[in-house]
Amino acid sequence: QPASALLSVRDITVRFGGIVALDCVSFDVPRNKVCGLIGPNGAGKTTLFNCLSRLYSYQSGDLQFDGQSITNTPVHEMPRIGVGRTFQNLAMFKTMTVRQNVMVGAHSCSNKGFIGNMLKTPSSRLEEKRLTDDANALMDYLKLSEYADNIVGDLPFGIQKRVEFARALAAKPKMLLLDEPAAGLNHTEMNDLGTFIRSVRDDMGITVLLVEHHMNLVMAVSDWIVVLNFGKKIAEGTPEEIQQHPEVIRAYLGDG
Ligand code: ATP
Repeated sequence: QPASALLSVRDITVRFGGIVALDCVSFDVPRNKVCGLIGPNGAGKTTLFNCLSRLYSYQSGDLQFDGQSITNTPVHEMPRIGVGRTFQNLAMFKTMTVRQNVMVGAHSCSNKGFIGNMLKTPSSRLEEKRLTDDANALMDYLKLSEYADNIVGDLPFGIQKRVEFARALAAKPKMLLLDEPAAGLNHTEMNDLGTFIRSVRDDMGITVLLVEHHMNLVMAVSDWIVVLNFGKKIAEGTPEEIQQHPEVIRAYLGDG
């Protein structure tokens, strides 16, 4: 249903020299759903994420977010228009505390920006208080409050991942791009992650686009799944449809 799509990917093509990383890829991500983006290694998933967060540009096609083209939106505007992301290799300030990292996320979407909030005018004091309250609530939600004043780099990996979620959510995204969030997590952490993804959708009303190799997780949390192989979309559908799709099975068995 194009009218309710939060994100429309339209004929996106990306080439690196002779390599076609994405070949005329189109799909819609409906609002308030979890959409899984899967495919074998080198299929183009990370390249698409990098296009969506405006780190890469594309040779042709268009990306429409919330009814507007983001083809010419600069990368630093992305948090403010409502696109947040996490990275395969955690992207945080490892020598800063948990609280400081979450506040960086909060400031990235604040209208006044980081410097504006440093000016101690009455309105910026109020804004700072609001951002601090929100950051505290988020740390509570992600069970990070006890680590608020710890240096991120000193914390175990699973907790660092939660800090990255908190940083991304602090910017109040409409859409959250999760790049292999289950990588490096143990079984319990993976279950918690599934619960977390569903609650981001159900309690916060955030739309999620999830790149993930752990198929059990993708099948359990996704409302809709898009499959890439060699830069092309080969299928999209519900988890049940995708699990039975002959071309998807062939691609994963390696002779497609
Ligand atoms: P994985 O699951 O292994 O992360 P992926 O689906 O994310 O794979 P991409 O990393 O998007 O795949 O890669 C798609 C293709 O584009 C690959 O052939 C890759 O080698 C190539 N590619 C990606 N980024 C670049 C780049 N910056 N320069 C050159 N080639 C690139």
